[in-house]
Amino acid sequence: MTSRLLCTLILFSLFLSPLFAQKRKNSAVLPEAKLSQAEAAMHLRFLASDELAGRMTGTAGNDAAARYIAEQFRMLGVKKVQGAADYYQSVPLVKTAPPLDGYIVIGRDTLKEGDDVFNQGGGLRTQSRLVFAGYGLEDEDYKSIDAKGKIVAVQFGLPEQARTNFTKLRRDKSKVAARNGAVGMIELFGDSAPFPWTAVGFQLRRPSMTLADTVSDASKTFPVFLAHDAGGRFSEMLKKESGVTASVSSAGVKRENVMSQNVIGVIEGSDAKLKSEYVLLTAHFDHIGAGAQFGATPADTIFNGARDNGMGTVALLSAAKAFAEQPPARSVILVALTGEEVGLLGSSYYAAHPLVPLSQTVFNLNTDGAGFADTSIVTVIGLGRTSADDDIAAGSKFAGLTAMSDPVPEQGLFDRSDNVSFAAQGIPAPTFSPGFRQFDAEIQRYYHKPQDEAKDDFNFSYLLRYSKAFVHTARLVANRPLRPQWKAGDKYEAAGKKLYGEMKKQ
Ligand SMILES: [Zn+2]
Repeated sequence: MTSRLLCTLILFSLFLSPLFAQKRKNSAVLPEAKLSQAEAAMHLRFLASDELAGRMTGTAGNDAAARYIAEQFRMLGVKKVQGAADYYQSVPLVKTAPPLDGYIVIGRDTLKEGDDVFNQGGGLRTQSRLVFAGYGLEDEDYKSIDAKGKIVAVQFGLPEQARTNFTKLRRDKSKVAARNGAVGMIELFGDSAPFPWTAVGFQLRRPSMTLADTVSDASKTFPVFLAHDAGGRFSEMLKKESGVTASVSSAGVKRENVMSQNVIGVIEGSDAKLKSEYVLLTAHFDHIGAGAQFGATPADTIFNGARDNGMGTVALLSAAKAFAEQPPARSVILVALTGEEVGLLGSSYYAAHPLVPLSQTVFNLNTDGAGFADTSIVTVIGLGRTSADDDIAAGSKFAGLTAMSDPVPEQGLFDRSDNVSFAAQGIPAPTFSPGFRQFDAEIQRYYHKPQDEAKDDFNFSYLLRYSKAFVHTARLVANRPLRPQWKAGDKYEAAGKKLYGEMKKQ
């Protein structure tokens, strides 16, 4: 027996031994199948802990969550992305707080700041003629009036009560007003507005945040007021009389620069050709903070955000772990987003300042949710809208879950989470959500409430299955031979064609 034959025989018997068989079987098991519930629970318990105080954008608790994610990336061997500092992409924000006092007198009515009127811009102390410019949407609306040196009044929102981003619309209207020589603008909120004045007050009394680079110097100083026009009395008066005056006294809003951060890492794909294409995985890690806000009780004022969006953040960390161990064909960018709760700011910033060209970013799988009521499913907002449906179904099945499509399309959830920042650019971008079939009491119980915690009664087994479904879906998409596309006729199909150019039919 030659030594060579002996070697072969030994190897052969080893191959047949149960030990080796076991080893071979294990090496075929994907890393996402081996994710541990204890580890997922550890991540969630930390992210949703009282110590992080609700992870509000711009607070120490939010920064600590970002640090935790970055150190996980480092430990797992996730690579840094060029253009990021360490694993951080700085997101410069401006925090705006309404002025504490101030008033506007129109005719015989006095409107009090914080009550009947909200200043959204710079300070103004003057008495001036008040001119009416309809909705004030374009220069055309100023054709028959002389707004120079005067305060201009415009009607709230759009004709036909169409819904839109009213804050942005107000900013756009103020630019037209400034261009036409007005010294300030009052937007009159009448009874035909699509929501009540009390809702406006609830929102505008709180400080708000915007991306620093979307606020121009001019819009910081131009005085813009939103005023309650109960019964339409001011707009009616302005339509009939020409000598109406307004006295205004307001210090303007207080602005403060705030620096927050997205946490970004990349895992290079295993396929020489496909690795130049990227699957973007996103989850916002910020939440709504702590303090005396709606839902707080004397016993608990910390909004821990375990479900929203601690769960999604855990799913993202699970993806980092599984893909660092065994990368898929395409490359994967992992982005933990800040500023979602204050207006999708982290995702808007990344979409405007991508660290990998968006045209090479073939898909975004976002994870976000309010809570869950059905632990046999994942609810995928955007299922049915891209050619990745089969991957989403198979990825969910891998974790023993069924993928369900958006149960409440009338709520417009697709356009209310971070995925829309990428969809609007043309990237096919569904959002994974923990299982729900409607906005029922079970969801409301936790949604933006201090009760959204990760205590012993939390369903950590579902957290693990949810994370597995997210990771495996991402793997299937990153491995598929042809990149996913929007379905024909989708509202974002045209944006996709613009971003990627026309592609051959799949
Ligand atoms: Zn969320």
